[in-house]
Amino acid sequence: MNRKIKKLYDLLYSAFGPRGWWPVCDKKSQIPLYRPKQYSPENLRESFEICVGAILTQNTSWKNVVKCFEFLSKDGLIKAQKIIEMPLGELEKKIRSCGYYRQKAKRLKEFSVFWQKEEPYFSSYKKDFFREKLLSLKGIGPETADSMLLYAFSMPSFVIDSYTKRIFSRIFIKQAEDYRSLKKIFESALPEDFKIYNEYHALIVETAKRFCFKKNPACLGCPAEIMCLYRRKNAGNFSNRVSFKRRKNKRSIRSA
Ligand code: SF4
Repeated sequence: MNRKIKKLYDLLYSAFGPRGWWPVCDKKSQIPLYRPKQYSPENLRESFEICVGAILTQNTSWKNVVKCFEFLSKDGLIKAQKIIEMPLGELEKKIRSCGYYRQKAKRLKEFSVFWQKEEPYFSSYKKDFFREKLLSLKGIGPETADSMLLYAFSMPSFVIDSYTKRIFSRIFIKQAEDYRSLKKIFESALPEDFKIYNEYHALIVETAKRFCFKKNPACLGCPAEIMCLYRRKNAGNFSNRVSFKRRKNKRSIRSA
């Protein structure tokens, strides 16, 4: 299994190249931008923004989160103090496009209070301790906590989401494991390197969005096609081919 997990990374990376996650707003842009090969936020402002994005993207697409960022960043509101001070109703209005906005507005406020209190100690936190702290907050589950650790704090904590479960269960024809077991499978197969975890999760999302749809996956042309058991089992049943320009990227885990 370990060898196959590494092989999958190599196939996806050589097809798609670096994904530039997690997108953040820079000084000129009010919408988050992807930054290939920049694996860490530049400062705590960006870390906070990534955490805000991780909360807003729960149960919704990134496209909807971008709309919220336009409203928030235009007025310089992606700061813990600003979110704490902002009336709840106003915050709800600004994040309406990402769904569950009432719940998420409360979570953002609670998270901002946590941020203000804990920020001076972040640099001393070890990964497991930090993860427990995040998980103790209302509305922060394993996927959100791992996204924050990995993308906002450059800590090697592999993120599992519904795309990972779907692709894993199809490629290896295995029942989707629970969160903890699947995380362990990936983490024990890979070097403990936040850059690889960062890229791998983004590559899985790319594969799911372009090829491995929930219904009728477009296996013809998928970079994982040669090692996918679902594809092999259903050979001859595919008619939908998605074409895309393959990149010539070489970044094997062995050479990473
Ligand atoms: S080959 Fe098909 S089933 Fe396998 S990962 Fe690609 S799209 Fe999904």
